[in-house]
Amino acid sequence: MGSVLDITERKRAEELARQQQERLQQTARLITMGEMASTLAHELNQPLSAIASYCTGCLNRLQAGSIRPDELATALEKLSGQAKRAGQIIRRIHDFVRKSEPNVAPCCLSEVLEDCVALMEADARQQGVKLVLEMGRGLPAVMADRILLQQVVVNLMRNGIEAMASTRRDRRRLSVAVQAMDGSVLTRIQDRGCGISPENAEKLFSPFFTTKTEGMGMGLNICRSIIEHHQGRLWFEPAADGGTVFLFSLPVLSAPSLSGAAMSQDESPQDV
Ligand code: ADP
Repeated sequence: MGSVLDITERKRAEELARQQQERLQQTARLITMGEMASTLAHELNQPLSAIASYCTGCLNRLQAGSIRPDELATALEKLSGQAKRAGQIIRRIHDFVRKSEPNVAPCCLSEVLEDCVALMEADARQQGVKLVLEMGRGLPAVMADRILLQQVVVNLMRNGIEAMASTRRDRRRLSVAVQAMDGSVLTRIQDRGCGISPENAEKLFSPFFTTKTEGMGMGLNICRSIIEHHQGRLWFEPAADGGTVFLFSLPVLSAPSLSGAAMSQDESPQDV
């Protein structure tokens, strides 16, 4: 009698565990879908708003009759560059979420940073932020997906710029630096913004944590997953002269350095 009861009890427990597991998987799928949707929305926001502002600029100047054909051509080229970037982001994120291998290849971080600075130049100028780029000589290559790294840097730069909204205009400075260090390549993005309170520091990388009215709170979470996916580490520290510095390190590619371009970079800081 006792053993019959035991078996019934065990079966009921197993059935309960199975149902619970099914519910968990369903929730996990929903969360993944939700995260993918917000990741896309968050990453696409930047090229789409750039496209919208280029369009408005062109229209205004066309209506005022104050734009030359060559100026219009330059603006349209930038516009189409941003549209291509949006397409690349969709493809890369799609691949990443589907867990297919990212497009990993030897990659030179100084080139990635130059691209990011070019992408953020207009935003920085609009916010009165001085961008400073510092690159070490002979930087070794890392194995990485270039577009994913670009997304990380652009996100960190955008956060830095936004954090300086209340900083005195003549102090607004965002420095982007990269150097080789102990078998890894270390990138630092330093602002003179509001800093991060100990209370917020704990939640900073959690999905959907934001202090901005229009924020989505996914940026840092995505950045950290991307860096960890590349066997790297992402963290932040208070900056010495106020504000915050975000750092990420990536392991150096063991093959010989490919960074011919980086070799020729000047070691002194470069104002942009
Ligand atoms: P979002 O930018 O949409 O809010 P993030 O995940 O990128 O999402 O950032 C989460 C929060 O972390 C921000 O809302 C902000 O409070 C804080 N944060 C991020 N970067 C900085 C920074 N450089 N300085 C101060 N606070 C920051």
